[in-house]
Amino acid sequence: MQVLEWGVWLFLLLINVDKMSGCFLCGVESSLCTVCNSVQACEQHYSVHKPSGSSCRKFRVEIQEGKGRTLVATQQIKAGEVVLVDTPLVQGPGNKTPPTCLDCLSPWKEADGATCTLCKWPVCGETCQSGLWHSIECSTLSRLKTVPVFSSDVCPEFAGIFSLRISLLAKDPTKRDQLDFLMDHADDIIKDSNFELNWGPGLELISEVDDLPYSGVRGVGIFCTNAVSMPHRNGRWIFPTFSFLSHSCVSNSRFFLHQGEKVLVRAQVDIQPGEEITISYMEPGVGGVLRRRYIQELWYFCCTCQLCSDPTELGTYLSGVKCRECSDYLLPKDSLDNSCSWVCSGCKAEKDGNTMHALASALNTKSKSVEGRDETVNMIETLLSILHPNHFILLYLKEKWLKFDCSEKKDLETGLRYVSEIINIRKIIEPGLTLNLGENMKVLNQIMMKLAKLKLELGEIDKTEFMKITLSAARNITFAKRCFEDNL
Ligand SMILES: [Zn+2]
Ligand SMILES: [Zn+2]
Ligand SMILES: [Zn+2]
Ligand SMILES: [Zn+2]
Ligand SMILES: [Zn+2]
Ligand SMILES: [Zn+2]
Repeated sequence: MQVLEWGVWLFLLLINVDKMSGCFLCGVESSLCTVCNSVQACEQHYSVHKPSGSSCRKFRVEIQEGKGRTLVATQQIKAGEVVLVDTPLVQGPGNKTPPTCLDCLSPWKEADGATCTLCKWPVCGETCQSGLWHSIECSTLSRLKTVPVFSSDVCPEFAGIFSLRISLLAKDPTKRDQLDFLMDHADDIIKDSNFELNWGPGLELISEVDDLPYSGVRGVGIFCTNAVSMPHRNGRWIFPTFSFLSHSCVSNSRFFLHQGEKVLVRAQVDIQPGEEITISYMEPGVGGVLRRRYIQELWYFCCTCQLCSDPTELGTYLSGVKCRECSDYLLPKDSLDNSCSWVCSGCKAEKDGNTMHALASALNTKSKSVEGRDETVNMIETLLSILHPNHFILLYLKEKWLKFDCSEKKDLETGLRYVSEIINIRKIIEPGLTLNLGENMKVLNQIMMKLAKLKLELGEIDKTEFMKITLSAARNITFAKRCFEDNL
């Protein structure tokens, strides 16, 4: 028995060693990094593992079925530590875009807008005409039979530029290696009912171009699956290593996009060796009832993260709806099945899943349109009789309520209760050093200090008590600063 167990153990160890062999990124047999002795890195990828002036990065690439390439920690990464800094492989305009300079992606105006003297597409001027990005496709565009009409409206042909640029870049073998690693979900993307509307004119434009290494649809797929929006500009970037990071609704890392053309990923919580490094593709705080369908529509996959796999969403009841038959709550029977029926945990009454989705969707839209403090309070009160008190729409409304300035004791006490509830739920659904936690800590402090001052004036607390509150506020500020690190 003992021998067999050792045998199994040795077998598992060998499998593990096999999986860990080769360059941390491409798997090609390479030498071990002499600085950290923890991963192999080939000549081409050594600078991704150890960028000059930085210490060795603590991740390797692992292929997972259904997800493609993922990043896995090779050593412990501490909360707040930089996981990765990446620079773009390609940038360009998306679809549904008004004319923008093809190089720098600044807005372009028909009245005073210059066009490239060679291809006649919009650019800012001479510098952008010969810029790094536009140069990729300028000569190809200038050989096309037609030049689209550029006005201030959305120009549908722009939808082809990114796909064309990716394909032209792929003619360079080094870039091709990086692009070949990227997933495209092309089969799902073509099935999208808006595919033709969104991408048809762009694909039509580039269908005239011969000898492209990728199909137009693969280019669109790479764009849809991997591109991230640039801050303050009309375009998107694709980062080669950053693209391997998978989504989790309870991610262990977060990312910041910098105008200086880079993305920086920091750990939000401690990440253990062997653990997958994840980011959240969408703003956290939306309940599974809507969140899971957004993810499916925008990124074409079914999320199976911890939060999605649990009908109670880690005990938060973020999507819970009050049962009309008893005092318990309705939750999806199988949270990974978007159309399953919902069941009450008390009386076992069942409701149709699509009806529950429609209810959440309608209430969510309504909550976005309420204005003013009184209207917000009324909606919170109404919803408390329909939804679980932790429901994400109530969270949203409470956060909205907190934006109104208040000075009366009663309001300050309500505010303190709201922000504490929000912090407690957000700590579960987005653990660690998150921007939302930082923001909520700031709000908590403002209310705490206002209330303390008021109570001091009213003689309800003494100076010693007031000083204690001030000290705790100072600690909160120090913590919040760590949450905001790198935020632009
Ligand atoms: Zn390599
Ligand atoms: Zn190293
Ligand atoms: Zn420009
Ligand atoms: Zn040009
Ligand atoms: Zn999820
Ligand atoms: Zn019930």
